[in-house]
Amino acid sequence: MVRQLRNRGIRDERLLDAMGHIPRDLFVPEELRHSAYDDRALPITSGQTISQPYMVATMTQELSLTGTEAVLEIGTGSGYQAAVLAALCRRVVTLERLSELTQTARERLDALGITNVAFHVADGSVGWQADAPYDAIVVTAGSPRVPPQLLEQLADGGRLVIPVGPGPVVTLQRIVRRGDSFEIADVCDCSFVPLIGEAGWAEPS
Ligand code: SAM
Repeated sequence: MVRQLRNRGIRDERLLDAMGHIPRDLFVPEELRHSAYDDRALPITSGQTISQPYMVATMTQELSLTGTEAVLEIGTGSGYQAAVLAALCRRVVTLERLSELTQTARERLDALGITNVAFHVADGSVGWQADAPYDAIVVTAGSPRVPPQLLEQLADGGRLVIPVGPGPVVTLQRIVRRGDSFEIADVCDCSFVPLIGEAGWAEPS
């Protein structure tokens, strides 16, 4: 998997090392373990997905982590990306709207001895003000727009990586805060499950 990531242009050696060590097979349903190291998204429970390794790597690389940062992740899902982030920064706050996913993810990270991740069941489309500001924020679900609350919760110089657009194909954007202004760059096209919440998509009826 790491060789494939390298071949596709992932250059952050700390990130490659973390993804080489974190056992992705523990984050996928048992019947899909044989595919755990394929470079593709896989279904997990509750109709959600664990993101494709290349997308996890791209999003994380765009956060430019050095080890000292406070990071907010929106969309805990399986917990895999939270485990990768935990290896690369000081502290992770991860938000998930579905409590059953939070529970399993927490058990997985506990079993791996990862202690610098705080889990909350919450609507992450409005971020998590209690621990703001964050040096980096990553949204792992597709949003119709950039939620203003996430921009407000970024530290000066902080990076927000978020898939944005009307979907199903969305644009991964990297936004850097410079005082009261924001530099926005498009990274690539991608496809994600929807960010459902107050500043995201409406709950399906
Ligand atoms: N990062 C995850 C991983 O490593 O497995 C993959 C996340 S999956 C592609 C997207 C997740 O975002 C789903 O678990 C979904 O329930 C969650 N989600 C969607 N809207 C949300 C919201 N408003 N707040 C928090 N989580 C949300």
